[in-house]
Amino acid sequence: MEKLTLRDLPIKGKRVLMRVDFNVPLDANGQISDDSRIAASLPSIKYVLDRGGSLVLMSHLGRPDGKPNRKYSLAPCAKRLSEKLNRPVILAHDCIGQETEKKAQNLKPGEILLLENLRFHEGEEHTEKDPDFVSQLAKLGDLYVNDAFGTAHRAHASTSFIAQFFPHRAAAGFLMEREILALGSLLQNPKRPFYAVIGGSKVSTKAGVIKNLIPRIDGLFIGGGMAYTFLKAKSFSIGKSLYDEAEGSAANEIIEAAKKKGIPCHLPLDLIVASDFRNDAESRIVSIEEGVPEGWQGMGIGPKTTDIWSTELQKASTIFWNGPLSVFEMPSFAKGTFAIAEALARSKATVVVGGGDSVAAIQMMGLGGKFAHLSTGGGASLEFLEFGHLPGIDALSDKK
Ligand code: AMP
Repeated sequence: MEKLTLRDLPIKGKRVLMRVDFNVPLDANGQISDDSRIAASLPSIKYVLDRGGSLVLMSHLGRPDGKPNRKYSLAPCAKRLSEKLNRPVILAHDCIGQETEKKAQNLKPGEILLLENLRFHEGEEHTEKDPDFVSQLAKLGDLYVNDAFGTAHRAHASTSFIAQFFPHRAAAGFLMEREILALGSLLQNPKRPFYAVIGGSKVSTKAGVIKNLIPRIDGLFIGGGMAYTFLKAKSFSIGKSLYDEAEGSAANEIIEAAKKKGIPCHLPLDLIVASDFRNDAESRIVSIEEGVPEGWQGMGIGPKTTDIWSTELQKASTIFWNGPLSVFEMPSFAKGTFAIAEALARSKATVVVGGGDSVAAIQMMGLGGKFAHLSTGGGASLEFLEFGHLPGIDALSDKK
């Protein structure tokens, strides 16, 4: 690691201002429906407490758009964190201001203050509109730690601009460190053969990553909703499947780049298609030569594709997977995604999964423990692999 990590900081007796990702999903009653993001921040939190530091934690939750909104209060997170740590967590009613500063100053070693939602202030996402916001936040700690990988691709006050107030004292938390090492290893010297499996619905968010990965990989597998833009580029009939006209040329460029490098660009060989985008719609399997019938749509990779890809993937030493290969949320069409997840879990390769829906599919199958790394940030992991760096990482102090 070129950047400072939590292990490099002199924590004893200090207040550690830590950016965490408590952007947890809430149900209709405002209860936390999945607390894995809180759980993921515990190693860094416990480390600080065990070493005689106090903690000022800060996070955003949802999109309150710069205004206080009780619906997005971090109160449920304070309660859940307190239960997990079995010690009190003080909730500040605002993330800046005199009262909050006083609370932060009064913290004793081992105590925790959680600031209210950062995005209740416009200055968090739009620093130019409220330049004082970041300096007020910075007053709350002696040391700064960023453990919120999921928002590291955003240049916001608490993820990026704040670091300048902590020269030689801005460090990566353990979660952030793990993400940088796991994703960084894909870009630097991955063990070959290295395959990338890319699915999901949006070509626009993945084309850049694929282009950056092509020089590094030995094979590409494209499935899910984005595959139809590629299949159409190769003149197969796709009916009313997802199609991104604006990305047609990106699809062609990717197919050409793979050909030029001499690596296979695997597209589905067969598909499960449906008469409608519903779980109980009429469905059948078609080969791509036969194509998607007029008025029907592709819902995922077919059984022949699943078999061939599952076998092919066993040859890899490194695999990156992002994006479901079928509409896995509908049980009738989950098979393609689940079968590939199983094949990856079985593989001896180092498999890194790029967050979001692919991780959700793995968790639904109870296969989480079988993977080298499940990224906690979908967008952040894709941008890291596309650009090789992120604003939230760049801002941290260099080790030297
Ligand atoms: P993304 O956010 O781009 O990774 O897209 C994830 C979404 O892609 C999931 O909600 C999947 O249901 C969806 N998806 C996967 N395969 C297909 C498909 N064949 N047609 C439409 N959506 C799909």
